[in-house]
Amino acid sequence: MEGKITYFSPGPAKIPDEVLLHLQKELVCHKNSHVSVMELSHRSKDFTDILDGLERVVRELLNVPANYKILLMQGGGTGQFAAVPLNLMSRKGKADYIVTGSWSSKATKEASKYGTVNLVLPKMDRFTHIPDKSVWKLDPEASYVYYCANETVEGVEFQDIPEVPEGVPLVCDMSSNYFSRPFDVTKFGLIYGGAQKNIGSSGVTLVIIREDLLGSPLPVCPTILDYTITAKNGSLYNTPPTYAIHVMGEVLKWVKKEGGLEEMEKRSIKKSNLIYSIIDESDGFYSNPVESKSRSRMNVVFRVGGAKGKEDLEKKFVDSAAAEGLLSLKGHRSVGGIRASLYNAITVEGVTRLRSFMERFCKENRA
Ligand code: PMP
Repeated sequence: MEGKITYFSPGPAKIPDEVLLHLQKELVCHKNSHVSVMELSHRSKDFTDILDGLERVVRELLNVPANYKILLMQGGGTGQFAAVPLNLMSRKGKADYIVTGSWSSKATKEASKYGTVNLVLPKMDRFTHIPDKSVWKLDPEASYVYYCANETVEGVEFQDIPEVPEGVPLVCDMSSNYFSRPFDVTKFGLIYGGAQKNIGSSGVTLVIIREDLLGSPLPVCPTILDYTITAKNGSLYNTPPTYAIHVMGEVLKWVKKEGGLEEMEKRSIKKSNLIYSIIDESDGFYSNPVESKSRSRMNVVFRVGGAKGKEDLEKKFVDSAAAEGLLSLKGHRSVGGIRASLYNAITVEGVTRLRSFMERFCKENRA
């Protein structure tokens, strides 16, 4: 498919063709099991092998130390907005939230049901930058500090891991930039991300948690969101999303084969620069509102026809791009404009085609 079609969806998003073709080939019969992965018992030897293989590749790619547990959960990122406070808020009854966009806002709202939430940053009208550390208000007595590494809607990404007071666990939503660059797991108490952007299909969420944070959920924490129970049962307390877990394992094996996170990062820098540079060279025809040091490598958002965008021109952009096989470029409904999501499975060639289209579209439509 790649070569004719490039699929810039924000999620569920592109899965590498090579992985899809492998999944197709073994859809009906997995190895010597005589049945499909979808039909395997979650307690069978074949499925245990799939789970073990997934854990191995996660540990290897991210260099996860032995004192961290790897959990596979359901409920997506939204489930984690609740799971994080339900499991960690009991430590001190209050938590620090760094709000840099729509998803961290939603997480904050959910957490405030379960404890006191302190906003670390001054309130912003628009999410176009990450305020300087000098204005952050971090509480050394917080249960944890929460942030979202990449805001998928606004295209705002942290380039560094925030520094937090000693002893306060750092919690991160990596749903939209998981496995797109190397990072130091030991800086975190907990990391989570839904699979449907960089690491597979929807239905499974990968949680990495430091062991000492287990064991103190709030009494109201539902069993299905309880990290301690999930860890104790090797993510098999109830029936897990078996097929989505299998897909994640295959996608991560592909990431490893392609050269791991260093290679994913190299490609991401190249791909995002291809689009940001054409935006910046367009003399205002295209515009991106995000401060340059916080621009996302994963979700490039921009307007067509000036800073506020011309809706008819943006519709023409999306439709003309689709006619050339450049699909799913419409921005999030809450902000409008255009969004090109450049996750790991998007090739440099596909992004180069988008760049050429943008050059041509600008020439032909600059009034
Ligand atoms: N966090 C981020 C950064 C996201 O992009 C999304 C979904 N796009 C979510 C959380 C919510 O995830 P879900 O739809 O899996 O609940």
